[in-house]
Amino acid sequence: MRNPFRLIRVRLTLWHLLSLALLLAAFSAGVYLSLRNALHDNLEDSIQSRADVLTRVMQVENGLPVLPIGVASPVTANDDSDDDIEGEFDSKEFIQVLDNSGNLLLDTSDPEDELSSLAGEIQAVLAGSTSWLNVRGDDDTFRVLAIPIERDESIIGALVVGESDEDIGETLASLTTIMGIAFPVAILVAALIGLLLAQRALAPIDRITRTVQQLSAKDLSQRLHLNLPDDELGRLVRTFNDMLERLDLAFQRQRQFTSDASHELRTPLTIIKGETEVALSRSRDVADYQDVLGAIGEQSDRLIDLVHSLLLLARADAGEIPVQRGPVDVLAAVEIAIEQLRPLADQHQVALAVNGRAMTIMADLTLFHQLLFNLLHNAIRHTPAHGSVRVEWSPGHDRLRLAVHDTGMGIAPEHLPRIFDRFYRVDTARTRNVGGSGIGLAICRWIVEAHDGSISVVSEPGSGSIFTVDLPVNMPIP
Ligand code: ADP
Repeated sequence: MRNPFRLIRVRLTLWHLLSLALLLAAFSAGVYLSLRNALHDNLEDSIQSRADVLTRVMQVENGLPVLPIGVASPVTANDDSDDDIEGEFDSKEFIQVLDNSGNLLLDTSDPEDELSSLAGEIQAVLAGSTSWLNVRGDDDTFRVLAIPIERDESIIGALVVGESDEDIGETLASLTTIMGIAFPVAILVAALIGLLLAQRALAPIDRITRTVQQLSAKDLSQRLHLNLPDDELGRLVRTFNDMLERLDLAFQRQRQFTSDASHELRTPLTIIKGETEVALSRSRDVADYQDVLGAIGEQSDRLIDLVHSLLLLARADAGEIPVQRGPVDVLAAVEIAIEQLRPLADQHQVALAVNGRAMTIMADLTLFHQLLFNLLHNAIRHTPAHGSVRVEWSPGHDRLRLAVHDTGMGIAPEHLPRIFDRFYRVDTARTRNVGGSGIGLAICRWIVEAHDGSISVVSEPGSGSIFTVDLPVNMPIP
């Protein structure tokens, strides 16, 4: 059983609930406090207006304050009957009138509340100030206003008006009950909805996980077909598929490279082994041995070339060949390559020509030289006797366009798109005779791309090919 707290949907719901609970608690506390304040203000307003009315109707008899009959008279403790003539006074409110010595003249309070003792607490009122008090009765708390009664600028007594806050307590208690029920219900409903929503939103992730688990490392051709909308998860799946695509291609290329490389290495080794076995099968004369050793030497050269090229490509792939740019004189570089290949051209009876002015570009001299050598070498090898190979270049504004033309056999259109791929050969039998292994042009492409340039070919079978290299000049502005 998995720990449920490790599930995003559970954690998401819990955080969501926690914030909701805090929000609800703050909201409830706000409502409770403002309602309580409003109710207390109301209570005080009502006490104040009652006191105002009573002050206005207060009469003076023999120097003592007296309320007219019918406004208020003492209520007895057991006087709860409906026909009570002072029925407007119940035990929730009371009036007291005191003379200026603090003696009670009128008291409508319930004796059980024992509020007559209040008289002792209002000396300050008899001195002329108004005061608000909270007084505990039997089972209620009373909000009490005590004001002095003045006649002809002298204080003749005090009026005390009190009202119980029992109603406020009841209202607040029922609000608390409602909130006490609503709070857990709201949290429960929010938990269910939150869990449901999180489940819905995260369901595709489960599907992605299950599908990815089914993908095996060997079969990278599979893709996630989840049909998701263009949201975060949709983009995740697309990114994942793109990554699979790249991995798949890289793995395919890797496999192809290994198998092609072993194949290429096996051919000369097989030839060497065959030659040796034939030579050793019986004794031969010196000339025969020389032939065999010559053939073995040729195949060894081929192996050395091949291993050199493979190593170059592997190091290039690993980013281990630094491109060290420096000023390169194009004319001089072309002439060096031509001189190196002149013996081969003479042997093939192919004429060599150069057409271009001196110019300098920023490039890696060794790599640029390798590029020229590979292109010229290919052109000479694939051009029949009496043909010609010409190197031509024209300086553009900030680019060099260098083309190697030949009047050779050309390349059929179906081969052109793959001609720069590793180990790709147009005609294995034909090129093996001229010693190719299909790596030369792949190296050319790598060199050109490492210089932020491009390489292309135009060819017509039977009449010749043009390999064009486009490189940025990159010379610093003097
Ligand atoms: P290789 O070492 O076999 O020549 P390359 O990568 O240099 O390998 O060339 C790939 C293929 O392109 C060769 O098999 C060859 O058939 C073809 N090719 C390259 N250059 C020329 C050219 N100038 N004319 C005709 N075919 C060419």
